[in-house]
Amino acid sequence: MTLLLDDVTLTYPDGDGRLTALDTVSLEVRAGSLTAVVGPSGSGKSSLLAVAATLVTADAGRVVVAGTDTGELSRAEKSALRRERIGMVFQQPNLLASLTALEQLQVMGHISGRGPRQVRDRARELLAAVGLEDQAHRRPHQLSGGQRQRVNIARALMNGPSVLLVDEPTSALDHERGAVVLDLLASLTRERGTATVLVTHDRTHLERADRVVTMVDGTLRVPVG
Ligand code: ADP
Ligand code: MG
Repeated sequence: MTLLLDDVTLTYPDGDGRLTALDTVSLEVRAGSLTAVVGPSGSGKSSLLAVAATLVTADAGRVVVAGTDTGELSRAEKSALRRERIGMVFQQPNLLASLTALEQLQVMGHISGRGPRQVRDRARELLAAVGLEDQAHRRPHQLSGGQRQRVNIARALMNGPSVLLVDEPTSALDHERGAVVLDLLASLTRERGTATVLVTHDRTHLERADRVVTMVDGTLRVPVG
């Protein structure tokens, strides 16, 4: 299992007490497969991704990424794991305004200490994979919303992550552009072998998923089989 959550519980401070955002959640996601997570607003979907990303630490349970039990890692080791093993794509692309599409990707490679030529080749290859080879030198304001989200996806894949965590990537896009982004996420998941978790509100995305799980009040309902 490339991503494993085992009996994960997460609480947040809430007035005098604590709010349970995740209640003994278990989930396994295989390399090259796409799991969609649906459920009402406030049910804990983003919290699930935050725990899987090691951005927040669970109160109890285990989070295992590419065979590494993250509970045993120091803060520095966790950030290295995030950089090298985990790709994240959120609703808003969060691109740097002054950088071209190509440079957004190159930054990720440089932070990881790879050589400039290797970084440039990989960035070009990924821009082509998301259909943006012709837009490599455009800055975010010169790209459409759908193109920005595709840059964001390519950037998340820059360091060859094992796990890809995606939170409502199409909510800022119209249906047609959303469908392009979703097709891309599904095909990149197979091609690059990522264990992908996709939080989505859009029912039409579900046919692209290998499995659909539902969050309700911090509890995960996983279909049998
Ligand atoms: P979803 O993504 O399904 O809308 P979230 O994971 O964002 O759900 O939130 C789950 C619950 O945890 C909600 O009740 C939300 O208000 C609460 N919550 C989320 N993040 C925080 C936080 N940083 N501090 C306190 N409560 C939070
Ligand atoms: Mg959310």
